[in-house]
Amino acid sequence: MEKRLSALQPLKDNPAVSGIFSDIDGTISPIAEHPDEARVADSAKKTIARLAPKYGLFCLVTGRDIDRATRMVGGKKLAYIGSHGLEIYLDQYYECLPEAEPYLAVVPDVAGYLRARLERDGVVVERKRLAIGVHYRQAKNKPLARERILETIEPLLSRFRLRPMQAREAIELRPDVPANKGSAVRSLLERRSLAAVAYFGDDTTDIAGFEAMEHARQEGRFAAKIAVESAEAPEELLERADILLESVDQVLEVFSWLAE
Ligand SMILES: [Mg+2]
Repeated sequence: MEKRLSALQPLKDNPAVSGIFSDIDGTISPIAEHPDEARVADSAKKTIARLAPKYGLFCLVTGRDIDRATRMVGGKKLAYIGSHGLEIYLDQYYECLPEAEPYLAVVPDVAGYLRARLERDGVVVERKRLAIGVHYRQAKNKPLARERILETIEPLLSRFRLRPMQAREAIELRPDVPANKGSAVRSLLERRSLAAVAYFGDDTTDIAGFEAMEHARQEGRFAAKIAVESAEAPEELLERADILLESVDQVLEVFSWLAE
């Protein structure tokens, strides 16, 4: 651990001009069987509450919408990138990517339509702020349920400019807008003069966050990519990481050290 910590010393040396970006699920909270059951431990919240005010920026980066993320981690004093880069909450000010704004009205309509047609035999439609999750985890016949979902959403994709994504036992419909965790991180880096930055993540969508770090390095900043290893962690993420951590607990150990 010592060696891994010393690699992050440039952040700790100058916290006021350093930025920390961190994914939530699988990075600061253990993966739960169902996303609704995922929790950030109180001890983790306390560590973050100590860490965040010391740094130029501490930003949580998630596929969840910002309302859910703030409820989960607690505190509107923190910065958030939500909905895979479509929304940002910074300095207690909420902004939605202009291209994604029309979807704030489209999503409730489409969710209502899907609920009426799909919610039976264990299929559940979850309306998020800027996405719709259609879950078939509880379906008796999962392949059949998935088939039924795909058939039902097909005509909606081009009509409402939505993109289907395979999630864990769910199909997620997202705005067809070119944004990801990395594009939002880069947008924040353009607004803040941070000399050193780090990104913590555990999953495929965090590779874009790593790319933002690589870009920051090209701009002459110190930038570190930290991956949390797990059986489900994608190979590419682990290969591109500068530092590998074994668990959520180790991430929190690093946070504690950075907060000292
Ligand atoms: Mg994650």
